[in-house]
Amino acid sequence: MKKYCLLLLVAFVAAEQQRYDGYEVLRFYPETHEDLAFLAELRKDNRLDFWTEIRRPTTDVMVPPSMMNELQRLLSSHPIAHDTMIPDVQKLVDLQRAGMPEDGSPRAMSWDSYHRLSDIHDYLDELAVTYPDLVTVFSIGESFEGRDLKMIKISSGVATQKIWIDAGIHAREWISPATATYIIRELVENYDANKDIVDTFDWYIFPSHNPDGYEYTHTNVRMWRKTRSDYGDPSGCIGTDPNRNFDYHWMDAPGASDNPCSDIFAGPEPFSESETAAVETFLIPENADGSFKAFLTIHSYAQMWLSPWSWTLELPVDYDDLVCFT
Ligand SMILES: [Zn+2]
Repeated sequence: MKKYCLLLLVAFVAAEQQRYDGYEVLRFYPETHEDLAFLAELRKDNRLDFWTEIRRPTTDVMVPPSMMNELQRLLSSHPIAHDTMIPDVQKLVDLQRAGMPEDGSPRAMSWDSYHRLSDIHDYLDELAVTYPDLVTVFSIGESFEGRDLKMIKISSGVATQKIWIDAGIHAREWISPATATYIIRELVENYDANKDIVDTFDWYIFPSHNPDGYEYTHTNVRMWRKTRSDYGDPSGCIGTDPNRNFDYHWMDAPGASDNPCSDIFAGPEPFSESETAAVETFLIPENADGSFKAFLTIHSYAQMWLSPWSWTLELPVDYDDLVCFT
């Protein structure tokens, strides 16, 4: 009986979703280098959740109620203008979940509420069946927890150039996979209207780059950002920021951390995450002829178009073209 009770308790704990009652999101308005450095120092405290990069003119930070007094004390030593952007995060979480089945039961794809991973993958498979001359669906590998890393290739068989789009590398950015599936819908189901761009480019779209994290945001922690990989760190912290895990100037910028408990943990080594390594393994040979003309990755939130680089303030040689493209 004891064992049975314990099992029930474990099941209950596993299904419990983290709540954000009283969590506030503060919007800071840093002006000076000292302000930015102060925020960077604050970011080392993993109880604070930075919703944006540390930047001017605004930096948004989620603060648990248990830390608000301490934060205000710290700010009294270095005042930075700020106001409350969201007074209670849980209210928004509840609002967002409205209309979504709690048990995650399957639903046909739509774009007026968010969908679980299985809906997204089912949608890709349906398109492959319905539009066999236009769509190919395949997996480029498996996530840490064994989920398929599913890609869709949209090709009318005419183009010689390719475009890559990935979404959902940060688990909690739900609008990102939703945007990717919307683009897929427009290119496939609305092919006649978009024939020009489908005939000009083959589209490789990876709508859920971090499926373990994405599912975890639905079942446990809405604000989870990283993968779910576990390297046995003594602190018990798990997960890597896959967007800090690529083997290009790895750990070479202030926005990455070597602390496994940080939301911007870059992983124990470049491409430690199966989710990023799979992209490299797929793309390098696929782009051996240089046929990929664009690599786009969709994040949220901000109405921003970010172009390389991130690790240096130097501009790439084709920067003017990138700006022109926007
Ligand atoms: Zn992101």
